[in-house]
Amino acid sequence: MPLTVNTQQLVQRYQQLSHEVKAAGVSMLAVSKYAPDEAVQTLIDAGQVQFAESRPQQLRDRSNRWPVCEWHMIGPVQKNKAKYIGRHAAMWHSCDNLETARAVARHVGGRILPVLIQVNIARAPGQHGVSPDAAPALAEALTDVQGLQLAGLMCMAPRGDGVRQAFQTVRRLRDTLFGGSLPESGRAELSMGMSGDFRIAVQEGATMVRLGSVLFGDWDIRK
Ligand SMILES: *Cc1c(COP(=O)(O)O)cnc(C)c1O
Repeated sequence: MPLTVNTQQLVQRYQQLSHEVKAAGVSMLAVSKYAPDEAVQTLIDAGQVQFAESRPQQLRDRSNRWPVCEWHMIGPVQKNKAKYIGRHAAMWHSCDNLETARAVARHVGGRILPVLIQVNIARAPGQHGVSPDAAPALAEALTDVQGLQLAGLMCMAPRGDGVRQAFQTVRRLRDTLFGGSLPESGRAELSMGMSGDFRIAVQEGATMVRLGSVLFGDWDIRK
């Protein structure tokens, strides 16, 4: 079955969601990992600039095609794909180990890549991210990696219960690691909240939400 984009509905959802999220002072990343190019183009035409991808090659391809947009990396990165992140990502949300961070840093060229540490708040085995206990050590180690700038934390809430609590825990960790709410000097990012829980994340202090299905709709291909 061919996938067709209902442009009108997509733009309508986009306008409603971005209005709601921006009114709360939060950035909205359009998670385009399952969306066809046509849908990406539609959102760009409607004014969206910040996109997020979970696969390095797709991030590279789309950043080459739409270099005026920001392409955020939110998925796992293997070392052999580190160059795509170093070269093309506007921000790397899913940093969870030093070795990969060093590999990414080798490819940033002259720029500074902002990096978030992914915290595995659900402590679910098989999920990515460092445990909250291990985040301070990784944050410390990242300060020595030239080309990267630690800019905050990212998390995915557990499925089911405990969503709000998880967001609160990561927010406290952010406040501890980055010195409270950081006045004018600029605040550290808190990338949390997806389609099913972004309103809770906004209430709990997210600075960026990552919206996929609620924005692009249900026709997307899920694996
Ligand atoms: C896919 C994905 C999202 C978006 O998920 P939706 O539930 O479709 O909004 C957000 N963050 C990460 C890390 C993802 O992999």
